[in-house]
Amino acid sequence: MSILMTLNAGSSSIKFAVYPVDGDHPIAHGQLEKIGSDDAQLTLHGGNHSETRSEGSLDHTTGLRRILAALDGLTQGAAVAAVGHRIVHGGPDIDAPQILDSALLEKLAEYAPLAPLHQPHNMAAVHAAIAAFPEALQVGCFDTAFHRHHPWVNDTFALPRSYYDQGVRRYGFHGLSYDYIIHRLAQIDSHAAHGKTVVAHLGNGASMCAIRDGRSIGSTMGFSALDGLPMGTRSGQIDPGVLLYLMESHGMDAAALTDLLYKKSGLLGLSGLSNDMRTLEGAGTDEAEQAIAYFTFRIRRELGAMAAILGGVDTLVFCGGIGEHSARIRAEVCTGMEWLGIALDAAANEATADIISSGPTTVRIIPTDEEAIIAKAVRGFLAA
Ligand code: ADP
Repeated sequence: MSILMTLNAGSSSIKFAVYPVDGDHPIAHGQLEKIGSDDAQLTLHGGNHSETRSEGSLDHTTGLRRILAALDGLTQGAAVAAVGHRIVHGGPDIDAPQILDSALLEKLAEYAPLAPLHQPHNMAAVHAAIAAFPEALQVGCFDTAFHRHHPWVNDTFALPRSYYDQGVRRYGFHGLSYDYIIHRLAQIDSHAAHGKTVVAHLGNGASMCAIRDGRSIGSTMGFSALDGLPMGTRSGQIDPGVLLYLMESHGMDAAALTDLLYKKSGLLGLSGLSNDMRTLEGAGTDEAEQAIAYFTFRIRRELGAMAAILGGVDTLVFCGGIGEHSARIRAEVCTGMEWLGIALDAAANEATADIISSGPTTVRIIPTDEEAIIAKAVRGFLAA
């Protein structure tokens, strides 16, 4: 048997899946979480069983080796024909998956400063996969690609033009998730997939995308994966004047600001408690409630902005860990949105139904699957 593998390496986790080259259903999938801590956890689903085990302290390279060893038993020495990689940043020109040859890998490494928490780990996974499977095709699938045809006004900042030419643009991220959701929507309701859609990808990282006729026309994330919605530990949108103030009055440098904006802000910063929505929902403190209130307020605000650029909304989709599992957050996002044709069906929402609305705008929950969209791209290359 010939198989393909997908790898999605983030700052503290590696998600993976293995598929037969000619099938949609994974043979095995799982994730290695808490990389960099003393207690990394490897979860593997495959065959008829699932297991989670402690892997102690390890880095990304060792982590990938452990994943491959764990998969070995399940794939029983099947030949790996190709490996598909999630790569966060593809730069200004890439708008589709690509074969990762050495020239492209060199170019992609240059984008590391634009996505410091992700790109270096993505690249490390590619090099580890090349070492493990030198004969396999290596395919890159890019989070920025889905957004590369934004209208110019949504692609630029009002800086002198030379910065745009140097690549200072609104790239947008989570593109693999949005691509999957729009493919899935086309399977469920092809009419809706050609309409005006807003997708709210609400996970530890969170963003929203305005999609018209299957194409992204706007994203809440911009030059970096910091902009837009508040996230687990990231600030989301912030007045650049605050950064100037912190530099001038608090003596903060780039490293200190990076730490503040990426790791100490968002839900964690506001609640003083946790970046994890489940913990905040159960906490019952004023600070945790305020953090949740800010999160849902910003989502409603962006929903209004996206409705304006789309000229209305036919379908609102929730996905990501919070979007798929938190009835409370979905209800709070939809509250007061009757002007947009959104009316929540409370019972359907509590039951995590596919459609959770009763008004003219359809509100759906669609579990996202970035691995599936990577595997689809890889199959395309293998078939060619
Ligand atoms: P990542 O961006 O790391 O892939 P996920 O999409 O897995 O993150 O989302 C993680 C978030 O989803 C966490 O904040 C977690 O608390 C939240 N979450 C998962 N299940 C629930 C639930 N039942 N209720 C509320 N939040 C949940």
